[in-house]
Amino acid sequence: MAALRHIAGMPELPEVETTVRGLAHVLDGRRIERVEARRPDLRRALPVDLGQRLTGSRVIGLHRRAKYGLIDTDRGDTMIFHLGMSGRWRIDPTDIGAHDHVLIETEDGRRLSLNDPRRFGSIDLVPTDALDSAEPFASMGPEPLGPDFDGAYLARALAGRSAPIKALLLDQRIVAGLGNIYVCEALHMAKIAPGRPAGRIARGRLEQLARSVKEVLLAAIAAGGSTLRDYARPDGELGYFSKDWRVYGREGEKCHCGAVIRRRVDSGRSTFFCPKCQR
Ligand SMILES: [Zn+2]
Repeated sequence: MAALRHIAGMPELPEVETTVRGLAHVLDGRRIERVEARRPDLRRALPVDLGQRLTGSRVIGLHRRAKYGLIDTDRGDTMIFHLGMSGRWRIDPTDIGAHDHVLIETEDGRRLSLNDPRRFGSIDLVPTDALDSAEPFASMGPEPLGPDFDGAYLARALAGRSAPIKALLLDQRIVAGLGNIYVCEALHMAKIAPGRPAGRIARGRLEQLARSVKEVLLAAIAAGGSTLRDYARPDGELGYFSKDWRVYGREGEKCHCGAVIRRRVDSGRSTFFCPKCQR
């Protein structure tokens, strides 16, 4: 627990995965008794029939795709949530405040609140069988933790591309749900310079890169999972955590190779890297 701390910043894939697992403890298999939308919109309008379609339905599965959480009901609907910049689900909150925008109550008296001060999050409802063809999923690349994401896939997807590898790993059409932190971390672990033209990285190094992407994500999910026991507590919050990053946020500190970690900013986004061991 000491290694975990709340951070300011966007929830990334591991936070969403941990959130989905935490919500599953409360929602999976339960009937939804009441839904209250306390405002008409977040980043965009909430579905006008949200309460009507969810109330009385039973939750039959929870999943994650990219940075979206998916909640399937026995009526053939899937509720899709995105946490935006500042969203989090609160479990059994004792107080409801101005930033608690959507409340869900289950048949066994549990209560969930989607709390989102900056309101960049979203909630949508789509038929479960149309999910894969719905935006944003239709144009997304494979899940980084899935079996389709490996060195062979990267070699195909990056062939002939002269853009920097870092930019292409952030492109959701190439791989779904990778954010800035995990791309910096994976490139460091794979010893690949962020600015290297993607199409000119040897196959063996792409194999290593795919393994590194999975490793940094799984380590973060494991760290977040250790907070799961808190979810049963009143006022438990599903949200943000971080761990001790290899390079992210460590500008001026020493890399394990002895060189000093650098930060570069392009289009408002920071890249942290080691100029010595990343080539
Ligand atoms: Zn280094």
